[in-house]
Amino acid sequence: MDLESVSSLDDLVHGTVWRPGDQDYAGRTAGFNLAVTHSPALVVAAADADDVAAAVRYAASAGLPVAVQATGHGCHTSFDGGVLVCTSGLDELRIDPEARTATVGAGVRWRAVLDAAAPFGLGGLCGSTSDVSVVGYTLGGGLPVLGRAFGFAADRLRSVEFVGADGQRRTVDATSDPDLFWALRGGGGSLGIVTSMTFELLELSRIAAGGVIYDGADAREVLAAYNDWVQAVPDDLCSSLAFLRLPPLPEVPEPLRGRFAMHLRVAWTGSVADLDRLLAPMRACAPVMIDTVGELPYRQLDVVHQDPEHPVPFTERGALLDALTPQLQEVILQQVGPDSNSPLLVVEIRHLGGALRRAPAGGDAIGARDASFTFLGIGVPAGPAAAAVEPALQALDAAVRPHSTGRTFLNLHGVPGDADDRARAWSPEQHERLSRLKAQLDPAVLFGHEHALTPAPAS
Ligand SMILES: Cc1cc2nc3c(=O)[nH]c(=O)nc-3n(C[C@H](O)[C@H](O)[C@H](O)COP(=O)(O)OP(=O)(O)OC[C@H]3O[C@@H](n4cnc5c(N)ncnc54)[C@H](O)[C@@H]3O)c2cc1C
Repeated sequence: MDLESVSSLDDLVHGTVWRPGDQDYAGRTAGFNLAVTHSPALVVAAADADDVAAAVRYAASAGLPVAVQATGHGCHTSFDGGVLVCTSGLDELRIDPEARTATVGAGVRWRAVLDAAAPFGLGGLCGSTSDVSVVGYTLGGGLPVLGRAFGFAADRLRSVEFVGADGQRRTVDATSDPDLFWALRGGGGSLGIVTSMTFELLELSRIAAGGVIYDGADAREVLAAYNDWVQAVPDDLCSSLAFLRLPPLPEVPEPLRGRFAMHLRVAWTGSVADLDRLLAPMRACAPVMIDTVGELPYRQLDVVHQDPEHPVPFTERGALLDALTPQLQEVILQQVGPDSNSPLLVVEIRHLGGALRRAPAGGDAIGARDASFTFLGIGVPAGPAAAAVEPALQALDAAVRPHSTGRTFLNLHGVPGDADDRARAWSPEQHERLSRLKAQLDPAVLFGHEHALTPAPAS
């Protein structure tokens, strides 16, 4: 199509285009993170992959940057003045029970996949909330609740439908374009827009999982016990530990309302009886307030972490750790322990290792494979403590960073405004290879929002 001859993007797409001032503009730009407000020049609610291609060609010809939003869970900075492509209308979802694969459009959330796959006894490698899009999560690597058992979600990716900065659609898999396929497994959304992807499902119908909750006053004992415990558990036992400070709101159940608590989350594919045996040291390390560990239909995985179900304002900082040394435990307790009066909602430590360490054939762009833990602080910049949140995150980051690997996990990194900081999500070799691909595929940096990749200089 000759873009010079058309005056409006509306004529090019089957979906809808919104501009500032249109009635639904604010609703269309809003995402899960209410702390961020986008103000794009145009919002394209894509109805199909051709709409995505048309929007990209239009933006390129008009010299406008492009950003993508599926759910807004990964949104940390505002996108102003360009073309925002909303993918929530790309809702194709096909389960192939014979091949054990799912094909999903870019707007499909994990919730829909878990529900559609469950009748076949199958499930995909969903993270702590099924509210994120499969595509956005997988492009960032996708750290599943069952990660130590089955690896990263991106390890199970088979093929991708992709629109590049040239506005052309193509299929990318390990054979057709090994370099780009490598990058799309963990490199994030900086090289183009994915309109759909196909990935492997696993036999997952019931698991042993749940949470053990302690009073926050026992944080020191629980943290020390957790560090000892994770060193002895089987390779495929998955867990995380969170410092929780839930607000005194009616929707927060007693006894957690307005209280500081420690939340151990566990999940594994073995029996509940065996998990009970393995959990004995953690159940004995401090008085248990709530214990929900038992058999769980896999499709109900959300109950393990209990992430917020509705949009909230939030900001976060992440790190990767090699070890929870006694010195680091002390640092964490000083920052967010019982005597800290921390304003942060959640500070969580997820145990990595196991299958997460095994890269798939051909490798990928996941930079977190060798770490032992993710560390993430999350604050809600709202209410009376709003002003204290960012300083508390900065202080936590500054205190923990010297004890970290110096790197981050892309999906749980937070605050990506600074390219040098964002680049810590990859090894120097991975970052260089991604930057070379950026130079080939998007030299004018059409896709720059939320990303760290700048095109590598010509050699
Ligand atoms: C409560 C909560 C829990 C989470 N739990 C986990 C977890 O357990 N494990 C984990 O790995 N991550 C987790 N995350 C992080 C989440 O996976 C990332 O934020 C992910 O980017 C969200 O993708 P989205 O499409 O839903 O979000 P969006 O904000 O819509 O998109 C985020 C980014 O993804 C990219 N993107 C999205 N769609 C496309 C596309 N079609 N083409 C190209 N790029 C695209 C873009 O860069 C976009 O800026 C969690 C986040 C939250 C808020």
